[in-house]
Amino acid sequence: MTKAPPSPTPDVPMPEEDASSSGESIPGTEPSSSDYSPTEVEIIQNDSEDSEDDGEHSVDGGEDPVSDKKYLVSHAQLMKLFCVCNFAGCGTCVISRPYCSAKGFGLTVKTDCIDGHEFVWTSQPLLNGTMSCNLLVPAAIFLTGNAYGPFSEICQCLGLESLSTRHCYNIQRVYVLPEVTSVWNLHNEAVMAATGDQVVSHCVRRWAM
Ligand SMILES: [Zn+2]
Repeated sequence: MTKAPPSPTPDVPMPEEDASSSGESIPGTEPSSSDYSPTEVEIIQNDSEDSEDDGEHSVDGGEDPVSDKKYLVSHAQLMKLFCVCNFAGCGTCVISRPYCSAKGFGLTVKTDCIDGHEFVWTSQPLLNGTMSCNLLVPAAIFLTGNAYGPFSEICQCLGLESLSTRHCYNIQRVYVLPEVTSVWNLHNEAVMAATGDQVVSHCVRRWAM
């Protein structure tokens, strides 16, 4: 069993006000990252001070699928909501286990209650029959210049239901690329309509010089 080496300066007390507070550092005295071991309380306190966004805050839904807030939800926690019928004004017991089916990032839950209601819930609004996040995630990945591969690996590591890589790229090819191209062409046409003559006359003047 190896014994940890003694500290080089075991009897030297730390100064009450270190040099970092005055913007200076003393060579050779910077604490290494291995020396810093904050308590759990300090970590939580620092996190809440570092970023206000990470703190608990109230949220409201947005008006459209893009601005509407999204959350990661545990399956076990979600199922607690489906032990009774969610049909408006019912609330009686369901007669069987909720039927759950996942497609990409979306989840559909179906329940049957003792009063005969067949209740269907989808985790996201449907856009022409497609779960909104199955369109929004491929679009967000494309628009931020990222690739689906690393994101898919993160989903698998988390146990987060997700689209297959092929399905994601098909959605980008069929829906996202044509829309981006259309908007880009409209933008170019608007720019040319507003400045086209000026650009041409400016170029002609430069060529004539
Ligand atoms: Zn019911």
